[in-house]
Parts: sequence; structure tokens; C-alpha cells
Amino acid sequence: MGLTDIRQRVARAAQDAGRDTADIRLIAVSKVQPLERVEAVLEQGHRVFGENKVQEAQGKWPDFKARFDGIDLHLIGPLQTNKARAAVELFDAIHSLDRPKLANTLARLAQERGVCPDLFIQVNTGEEPQKAGVLPDAADAFVAECRALDLPVRGLMCIPPVDETPSLHFALLAKIAARNGLDGLSMGMSADFEEAIALGATHIRVGSAIFGERASG
Ligand SMILES: *Cc1c(COP(=O)(O)O)cnc(C)c1O
Repeated sequence: MGLTDIRQRVARAAQDAGRDTADIRLIAVSKVQPLERVEAVLEQGHRVFGENKVQEAQGKWPDFKARFDGIDLHLIGPLQTNKARAAVELFDAIHSLDRPKLANTLARLAQERGVCPDLFIQVNTGEEPQKAGVLPDAADAFVAECRALDLPVRGLMCIPPVDETPSLHFALLAKIAARNGLDGLSMGMSADFEEAIALGATHIRVGSAIFGERASG
């Protein structure tokens, strides 16, 4: 538990996989966590954080950004188009691009602002009806569509079904990324980031293992 422990485990998993730790970005998922826990991790020098709700992030990150330099903020939860402007103003990366309407909105904002966060396309590898993300079969076409809009697509993201072996989903995501010439793989959470690293994750999203259990709700 804790940042130091997780950093060590990331380094060990990278070494076991014959990978460079510098190629793996540890996103500390701070959603719902008490501000003092987030601040403690900032004080330890960590700068890469993830949030799953735009509004919640707007409530805490402007202050932290004013006080700490070099914060790299990632949106890892679903994004409604009516919150897209707020999202691109606050976040450095968005991991939940999953439909044409959102792609078009982000493209329009990118044109207008001249900058755009790094984008990851979310793939619903488990084909779960309740989960966001493009279906694996539709991923190639959607990557092409986003590229045609000049969007900075850096990679793919997935959240495996809770009751399935995550490695199968990580491997599928890596395969789809490879055939589309994408380097970024946002996969792996507290329970499975080591498997994700073994299968090529470039961005792991770790919350409770760094900060402790989240309050429910
Ligand atoms: C909450 C969340 C995480 C972190 O989950 P932990 O199990 O606490 O590590 C990672 N990815 C997404 C998309 C999340 O919503």
C-alpha cells in the first residue's frame, strides 16, 4: 500500500517484463479521496493523477495546480459532450473517447483552441452492455475516423469485466492497438496492474492501492 510500495512493484513488474520503467506512467486515481490524502501524494513528488468525473475534478484540481507545478491530469471516466469544453480546459489527457459525437466535439474544440489533450479510445473489450467504449470489431474504423478529424489519438484504454481474467482483455487491447499503429495502452488498476505491465501497458490507473480504500458512494 502507498505510493512508494506501488512504485517499487511497477519497477519490478517492468523489470520482469524486460521493459523500461520510464515507459510506464503511473496514474494515481484520486477520485473520491479526501484532499489530505491527495496532497500527501503531491508532497511526495507525484504529479500524474486521474479523475473519473469532470465536475469533481473541477472542485479540487485548479487549487492544486496553483500550488504544485507540473501536474499531469487524466480524465479516465465517461465524458458527456456538454462537459467536453470544461474537460479539455482542465485535463492533459482523456482516456474515454468512445463515440463519433464526442470525437466531433473534441475536434471542434481543438480547432478553436489550437491544442487538444492526448486522447485514448476506450474499447469495451468485454462487450458489456452497461459499459462505455467502442466494441472491438468497431475499433479500427473508429480509430480511422478520429485520425481523419486530426485528433491526437495516443492509444487505447480498457476496463476488463470484473469477473473475467484481465490478461485476456489486456492482450486483446494490445492486439487492436498494434494493428492500428498505436503505442499507448491505458490498462491495469490496483488489482491487476502487474499483469497489464507484462502485456505492454504504458499507462496504469491505480487508485485504492495508493490512497487506500475509497469511501463508498
Ligand atoms: C476508479 C478507477 C480506477 C482505479 O481503481 P482502483 O481499483 O482503485 O485502482 C482505474 N480506472 C478507472 C477507469 C476507474 O474509474
